[in-house]
Amino acid sequence: MHFPVKKFFSYYKPYLKLYVSILACALIGSSLTLVFPLLVRYITKDVLVGNLSTALNKVFWIGGLMLILAIIQNTANFFVDYKGHEVGARMERDLRSELFAHMQKLSFRFYDKERTGQLMSRITNDLLLLSELYHHGPEDYIKYLVRFIGAFVILIFINPLLTIAVFCFLPVLGVFSLYFNKRLNKGLRRNKERIADINAQVEDSLSGIRVVKSFTNEQEEIRKFNRENNRFLHSRKDTYRSEAYYFNGVETVIQLITITVIVLGSASIVNHNLDLADLITFLLYIGYMIEPIQKLTHMSTQFQEGITGFQRFMEIMNLKPDIENKPNAMFLDKLSGEIEFRNVCFRYEEHLNDVLQNMSIHIYPGEYIALVGPSGAGKTTFCSLIPRFYDVTDGEILLDGMNVRDIDLQTLRKNIGIVQQDVYLFSGSILENIRYGNPSASDNEVIEAAKHANAHEFIMSMPNGYHSEIGQRGVKLSGGQKQRLSIARVLLKNPQIVIFDEATSALDNESESIVKESLEALSKGRTTIVIAHRLSTIRNAQRIIVLTKKGIVEQGTHDELLIKGGVYARLYSKQFELV
Ligand code: ADP
Ligand code: MG
Repeated sequence: MHFPVKKFFSYYKPYLKLYVSILACALIGSSLTLVFPLLVRYITKDVLVGNLSTALNKVFWIGGLMLILAIIQNTANFFVDYKGHEVGARMERDLRSELFAHMQKLSFRFYDKERTGQLMSRITNDLLLLSELYHHGPEDYIKYLVRFIGAFVILIFINPLLTIAVFCFLPVLGVFSLYFNKRLNKGLRRNKERIADINAQVEDSLSGIRVVKSFTNEQEEIRKFNRENNRFLHSRKDTYRSEAYYFNGVETVIQLITITVIVLGSASIVNHNLDLADLITFLLYIGYMIEPIQKLTHMSTQFQEGITGFQRFMEIMNLKPDIENKPNAMFLDKLSGEIEFRNVCFRYEEHLNDVLQNMSIHIYPGEYIALVGPSGAGKTTFCSLIPRFYDVTDGEILLDGMNVRDIDLQTLRKNIGIVQQDVYLFSGSILENIRYGNPSASDNEVIEAAKHANAHEFIMSMPNGYHSEIGQRGVKLSGGQKQRLSIARVLLKNPQIVIFDEATSALDNESESIVKESLEALSKGRTTIVIAHRLSTIRNAQRIIVLTKKGIVEQGTHDELLIKGGVYARLYSKQFELV
């Protein structure tokens, strides 16, 4: 995959000044560390020559100099460590915000496919991978390159032969280090995938805990969880093995180098080609050359990981929402609520069958429509096309005579209120949940909406009234209560078109009349489409549309359709003969 370099570096932009100072500090810090062994060499040479009185003098002022250098060097390194990481964390924050904001834009089709748990780990884990790259970016490269090159040049001056001997080992160290780092990082990435699988499993299982318990499938859930948990363990076992190989292998090579230097160096001393001070200096600088090799190889794999992380990030960022505003989309204040389907065809995926075929229907402003028909006929689908949750495959949908694709999405969706069959509430208080329909509504307006939705009474009977917490997804409420909160939420939004996907099941012991009343309040003065399962809501309709897999097969009032004796009459007698 092509790597978007420009985009990658654009995230440095807001922190450029700070970044340049971090780089400067990295340069200062690493250059100063190179001076220490030289000072040690200076002292040891004088001491060994036997000129003890001058040596002692020098020891003190060189000690002082070392102290000053140490303070400067560590201050610079402090700045690099602290601010360098901070900048990395800031960039990580920026990327994460951007990713989340982008996910908010993606359409239903995207969420139909993706698992929530997996997406969550993209936002949390994947970006950590990336931040490693931003944290240990250029400043570390500068630090280690300066150390390596500096040490190499100094050693060449001290003793070229010994330096070349040491140098022969470095490719071995480099290749070894590169190989195991790659393996290690692959393992670490696999660990992350496994933990994402565990997260997804937990998310799925705990969200559905009530279903789990009702089917007494706890053991099955535990088995599924343990399978993922064990896969994680095996993956980690692998990484620990690579890690042990890596660290001990590197340690062996370092020891080999040290032994070589000691043996060759001592031999050189015997041959008077080297003195003890040089040998000590040599041993001190070896570390300066080895550490960068380890770090740079480690960083090169980390770099690859980071790049992969960035590519995964861009994978989502590059996804265009299926449904977007046209550049010249129309902004409207209010719609009158006229809906027209013209030869609409729709299928969810290219390879799937049409759900709606060549459907045409005209719904007038303020009309109350009941949509009835067998399950799977496409009633919910029909309704989700109006606010453009999906775009039609063919044909067009017009609102007030305008194609929905030409209307600004915000305008469009602000004018349509939906009470979903499976009501979704957010954790929080009742007040917050109703106000979701209009964040600027006052407490009084919220209460007014709740009253119209027949929800005020049950809310007031709760211990904390409007401030009662509803539990995750509203578990503390009955189905009917959730539905009435959802109606209040839409009332507060005050849209011109209302879609009510009636719950199929009988509302737990709550009388039909309560729902009927709240629905009446909701539909007043608005175009209303009710996907109806209840006689009371159907009878109120000005027009009943019967939808089957063959499309719209009948429409008319209740009485007209009964007289006609078609599909509706049969449905009616089957469903409601006992009512
Ligand atoms: P109804 O509301 O009348 O019961 P739906 O509109 O929910 O019917 O579904 C109509 C058809 O579309 C069904 O066959 C269903 O399986 C299919 N369907 C619904 N939602 C999706 C989706 N998100 N992706 C693919 N197919 C879907
Ligand atoms: Mg449905």
